[in-house]
Amino acid sequence: MSLVKDIYNRSPVFFQNVMVSAYGYQWHKRRFGGIFADEYRRFKERENFTAEQWKDYQVLQLRKLLVHSFTTVPFYREQYKKAGLTIADLQKFEIEDISKLPFLEKDELRKYGDNNLLSEKKSAGTFFSSSGSTGTPTKIYYSPEMHQKITAAMESRVRNWAGVDRFSPRGMIGGRRVVPNGESKPPFYRYNFIEKQIYFSAYHISPENSKQYLEAILKYKPDYMTGYAMSNYFLAYFFDELSLKVPQLKAVITSSEKLTPEMRSLFLKVYGCKTFDGWSGVENCGLISECEQGNLHMSPDTGVIEVIDDNGNQVKPGETGEVVCTGFFNYDQPLIRYRIGDKITLSAKTCSCGRSMQVVGEIVGRTEDVIIGKDGRRMVRFHGIFVDIPSIVKGQVIQESLDEITVKLVTSSPLTQGENDSIKKRVSSQLGDVIVTVEEVKEIPLTSNGKFKAVVSKLKKN
Ligand SMILES: [Zn+2]
Repeated sequence: MSLVKDIYNRSPVFFQNVMVSAYGYQWHKRRFGGIFADEYRRFKERENFTAEQWKDYQVLQLRKLLVHSFTTVPFYREQYKKAGLTIADLQKFEIEDISKLPFLEKDELRKYGDNNLLSEKKSAGTFFSSSGSTGTPTKIYYSPEMHQKITAAMESRVRNWAGVDRFSPRGMIGGRRVVPNGESKPPFYRYNFIEKQIYFSAYHISPENSKQYLEAILKYKPDYMTGYAMSNYFLAYFFDELSLKVPQLKAVITSSEKLTPEMRSLFLKVYGCKTFDGWSGVENCGLISECEQGNLHMSPDTGVIEVIDDNGNQVKPGETGEVVCTGFFNYDQPLIRYRIGDKITLSAKTCSCGRSMQVVGEIVGRTEDVIIGKDGRRMVRFHGIFVDIPSIVKGQVIQESLDEITVKLVTSSPLTQGENDSIKKRVSSQLGDVIVTVEEVKEIPLTSNGKFKAVVSKLKKN
């Protein structure tokens, strides 16, 4: 992999586009092959389910998952035995009983994700790294079938609801390092011919560079923009500030980050289109997406989403609570009652779209500070700097000044010199010429309202 990265980083832009497309082709096959077409049709059909049908569907899925986990996953077998549960209990398990099962904590997923949490009958797959709003790195196991199911869910409930589909050209702003390092010359995007996707760097969005981004939009004519909500916002903000003439889009699709009414109205102003919010995450144990009528719905066929208060009780409509999810896609590494660390507000509304899928009032989403580069570039999401360093339990990035960054880490064993250097290199690759200090600490303090912040800025707010 690092050899491929190395070749990529040394290649001219044209060959990088070819490599991005070749990678895109592999991905395309993996996600849209196999069971995708059948699953897509089923996801579509289930949108017509009545509340009763949804309940029946969910309980059958839950029983199947629990029996599978009890019989093939050492972690759950041990836990459920300890709790006195038998296969017979799980075969007649009710959704309401789910609160009797123990939680799966993030730290347990970190520790057991590649051992006791894997099924003894797991299919061939790959691990994907993530760290969400809590700064704890985790690894999620994906088989091709799981990718195909997720893609079918995203196609039917995210893209289709937003009026686009998998064939629509798009612009994506995400964490992949398509541009070799923080000081690279433009262009700050690469193009995947196969998927008709412009992949924009999330780490070069500045007033000056925004013109480069616009060039790509004019050249490749995306129907919609997607990816990090904040990065999309910064880009639209600079377009607006510089009064650039921007092509009109069909939609902006965002997920898993705080989407504010100001962001929606700016997208409307700049791109002349509606924004569709959503929530899923790399764990893929639940999906919330926005329908044509502007309401957020849970997708009950992706998993059971519980919303609980501080005492572990289910909150009422109108109230906000912590999301606990049980995913129906991953039989190789089941996540049952996983405390993912995000918050949502429930709603008692029914939606005029006619779907009997629970309405969510708001995705509270993660709030992180924004890091500002010396050239005015703005960026969020630094989780990429922690991946593949197994001893990191928790990490936080702090901007002390325009050219000083501190990385605070809680580790299970001291970092090696190589790991230390690699973190510094990763930060500089996003921010350019900055002084990076890595500090290993016992604990990372929470904010005054008790929240963990993965990114903190000490720059004066303007
Ligand atoms: Zn609706």
